[in-house]
Amino acid sequence: MKKCLNDKIFKLIAEVAKDEDVPTFVIGGFVRDCILERKTHDVDIVVLGSGIDLAKKIANRLGKGVHVSIFRSFGTAMVKFGDMEIEFVGARKESYRTTSRKPIVEDGSLEDDQNRRDFTINAMAISLNQDTYGTLIDPFGGREDIKNKILRTPLEPEKTFSDDPLRMMRAIRFASQLGFTIEEATLDAIKKSATRIEIVSRERITVELNKILLSDKPSIGFKLMEESGLLQLIFPEFQDLKGVHEENGQRHKDNFYHTIQVVDNVASISDNLWLRWAAVLHDIAKPLTKKFDQDLGWTFHAHEFIGSKMVHGIFRKMKLPLNEKMKYVQNIVLLHLRPISLSPEGVSDSAIRRLVFDAGDNLDDLMLLCEADITSKNEKTVLKHLKNFSIVRQKIAELEEKDSIRNFQPPVSGEEIMETFGISPSKPIGIIKDFIKEAILDGIIKNNHDEAYALMLEKGKELGLQTKKV
Ligand code: ATP
Ligand code: MG
Repeated sequence: MKKCLNDKIFKLIAEVAKDEDVPTFVIGGFVRDCILERKTHDVDIVVLGSGIDLAKKIANRLGKGVHVSIFRSFGTAMVKFGDMEIEFVGARKESYRTTSRKPIVEDGSLEDDQNRRDFTINAMAISLNQDTYGTLIDPFGGREDIKNKILRTPLEPEKTFSDDPLRMMRAIRFASQLGFTIEEATLDAIKKSATRIEIVSRERITVELNKILLSDKPSIGFKLMEESGLLQLIFPEFQDLKGVHEENGQRHKDNFYHTIQVVDNVASISDNLWLRWAAVLHDIAKPLTKKFDQDLGWTFHAHEFIGSKMVHGIFRKMKLPLNEKMKYVQNIVLLHLRPISLSPEGVSDSAIRRLVFDAGDNLDDLMLLCEADITSKNEKTVLKHLKNFSIVRQKIAELEEKDSIRNFQPPVSGEEIMETFGISPSKPIGIIKDFIKEAILDGIIKNNHDEAYALMLEKGKELGLQTKKV
């Protein structure tokens, strides 16, 4: 496995380890990713001795400007070298209590340290010791499992997951990221241990959920979460999308499968995590709003509005940021039906202007989501919708050139209104500004200062205001 040790840092670590007489190994994710030919910048080094001492000696040898961060309570130390982050830790043996995923830790052998790893593919080590330099130490057949694309725990799976239930999310995350299959006994153990997820902090769950979402095909992860029972526990609103009802011989589509298809579609055209979240949540209120209407069939009235209202609660629970990223998701969920409701033949300029105004900078992403939202099996329907969208896009472009509505700035400011009529901050200012904005969106006046100013005078007069004499 010398090919994994090309970077000159490994030679240096080996030299220092030899001088200090401490057996040293590269272990875990770096070894896995090297075999998979994936780029990694995090390296884990396990030492039969003190990781902190070895890290300090290595940093000394590397010379000036190399910094060691020491985490004494974890017994680890991190050295940054170029774009690599190298973490040193003494080999350890772990045992667990039922109430916490934090183990009791004691010094151990390399074997103990490999036994505590979550999956066979994550438990491989490469020797950095003189006589065996570059040798793979793979007690559980991790290399073979990589070849066969299989995720499996090194030891008894149920105990592995019960000890640290975060590993269940990690299994599903790796399946989604790497396109691997979770071996049957391992998946069964996840199903059995699913309720243990309650001892894992939300932050850690969300880190894994975001990694699932950022994988090439997030639907793999969502299907596994659903199948294992984890989805119901960590994201019941999403679980509720599953299922089809029939009334009077009419069935609606299964919104779980529809949504994960939309997420995959978005993933294939954009790396933006928040657009992927918008895809996850775009139909989240469908279960709540579902009704069967004798004339209309299945309806999900106002699901976009109620869905956008649900975003905050879900973000809060998931410990996702309650900032402009959340507002972006709310905005896209709220508007996700608008572009498709613009029927291209009859669409008015003012409807397009209002969409551009309401979406602002999110417009391009909104259009991506709307296109991704077309998941009909009927090719004709898909083609028809896509054609309509290209017409809507074209109209947007035409109107934008003329009106610059996207980042709308009121052409007459509040100060100018106050100055003109000699008034202090008060209700009429808002009324006038709103009136001007509406007139621009309706195409009654153009988006420029002169026309807006004239309208302001007119509206001011109507409100009984008088221009200040100069
Ligand atoms: P990535 O870096 O892509 O998130 P990784 O597998 O490298 O994946 P890290 O958090 O960097 O994950 O952990 C490094 C190694 O530590 C893993 O490869 C695995 O051997 C071990 N490990 C991490 N988390 C756990 C866990 N919860 N249980 C057991 N072993 C773990
Ligand atoms: Mg890693």
